[in-house]
Amino acid sequence: MLEGKKAIITGASRGIGRAIAIDFAKNGAAVALIYAGNSEAAAEVVTQIKNEGGEAFAYQCDVRSFEDTKKTVEDIINNFTRVDILVNNAGITKDGLMLTMSEENFNMVMDTNLKGTFHMIRHLYSHMMKQRKGRIINMASVAGVMGNAGQSNYAGAKAGIIGLTKSVAKELASRNVTCNAIAPGFIQTDMTAKLTDRVVETALQQIPLKRMGYPEEVAKLATFLASDNAAYITGQVIQIDGGLCM
Ligand code: NAP
Repeated sequence: MLEGKKAIITGASRGIGRAIAIDFAKNGAAVALIYAGNSEAAAEVVTQIKNEGGEAFAYQCDVRSFEDTKKTVEDIINNFTRVDILVNNAGITKDGLMLTMSEENFNMVMDTNLKGTFHMIRHLYSHMMKQRKGRIINMASVAGVMGNAGQSNYAGAKAGIIGLTKSVAKELASRNVTCNAIAPGFIQTDMTAKLTDRVVETALQQIPLKRMGYPEEVAKLATFLASDNAAYITGQVIQIDGGLCM
C-alpha cells in the first residue's frame, strides 16, 4: 500500500510507533525512526525491518526541542530527498490528580505530546506544501476526546493535538496534504504496562470488546491513513478503542 513512500515516525523504538514502522516497511515504505534515548530498541527495529527486506534508519532526537527536530528533519530530507508521510506518535504520560500535579509533569507531557507534534509539522510544512502531496498522522488518545481523571495534562495535550490536526488539515487541504488523528483506547505497550491490575480491570469492564488492543491493530489503521486509499479523508479523529468511547 505504501510502495516507494518515505516516512518519518516519531517514538518508533517501542510500542505503537514500532508497530507502525514495521507495518509501513512491510507495505513498501522506507522509514526514518525517531526515538528519545533507547538506542538498543531502535536498532532492533531497524534490524528487523532490514531482515525482512525493508529500508530503515534510526535518528535519536528529542521531539520537545525545536532545534533538535529541525536538524533531524533536515538530515532525513537529505537522506530520503523527500518525505511523504509524517507520523507524530512520540508520547509520554505523567499521571496524577490536578490537586497535586507539578508544573514539571504538566510541562513535560505538553512538551512531548503537543509541542513535539507542532515541531515536527512545523519543520515539514513547507516541504509537504511545495510537494503538493503528503500525509500527516497525529497520535491522540480517547483521553483527549472524553477526558480522564488523573490525566489532565495528558488529556489536555491530546485534545490540543485534535485541534491542531483539524487546523493543519484546513491549512494544507488545498496542497493535497491530509492531516488526521488516531485516538487509541487501551493498547498493550510499555505505557499501559505501568497501570495497576485494578486500573486495567476497571478499564476492561468499560470496553465493549472486553480486551486491550494490540499495537499492530493501530499500525494497520495508520498504514491505511498513510496510503493513497485514504486520499479523501482529512481532519478526522479515528478512534480505535474496542468501543470504549462512542
Ligand atoms: P511507549 O511504548 O511508551 O513508547 C513511547 C515512544 O515515544 C518510545 O519510542 C520513546 O522513545 C518515544 N519518546 C518518548 N519521549 C520522546 C521524546 N521526547 N522524543 C522522542 N521520542 C520520544 O508508548 P506507546 O504506548 O506506544 O504510545 C505511543 C503513542 O500512542 C503516544 O503518543 C501515546 O500517548 C499514544 N497512545 C497510547 C495508548 C496506549 O494505550 N498505549 C493509548 C492512547 C494513545 P524511547 O524508546 O527512546 O524512550
